[in-house]
Amino acid sequence: MGKKRSMVSSMLSNKCPRCREGDLYVQKGVFPLRRMMTMNERCPVCGQKTELEPGFYYGTGYVSYGLSVALAVFNIVWYVVLIGFSWKDNSMWYYLGITIAMLIILQPLIMRLSRSLYISFFVKFDPDAKDNVYGAVEETNAVEEMEEVTV
Ligand SMILES: [Zn+2]
Repeated sequence: MGKKRSMVSSMLSNKCPRCREGDLYVQKGVFPLRRMMTMNERCPVCGQKTELEPGFYYGTGYVSYGLSVALAVFNIVWYVVLIGFSWKDNSMWYYLGITIAMLIILQPLIMRLSRSLYISFFVKFDPDAKDNVYGAVEETNAVEEMEEVTV
């Protein structure tokens, strides 16, 4: 078995928080945008449900808001260091322009990342997830746990 992803790299690559291997989203990237938020119903690797309950992702608005604010603050930091803030020479307006453009361009990524972060708050990492697949075998889990796993 390969090296396990860290929690951060798993979240950033939109992987299932339980096994850190399966993709949460049907699409690897954001294009076509129409389907960018389409999630696998279950993790293709460990069977973890991606929508824990109906409307599970309503709360992600706050997460993407938080990420957007974090980006704006991050921009302030490098902008002040490299360029400097001032209302006198329009640099403040450039900052706003750059930040708003970045927020719009990055919004699809932020929205996907928000769900990934959100589900990571609720689903714990299980290093043996692959050997204990949820879903089709859910009813027989009790029996399955008794079985010896041979690799
Ligand atoms: Zn998984």
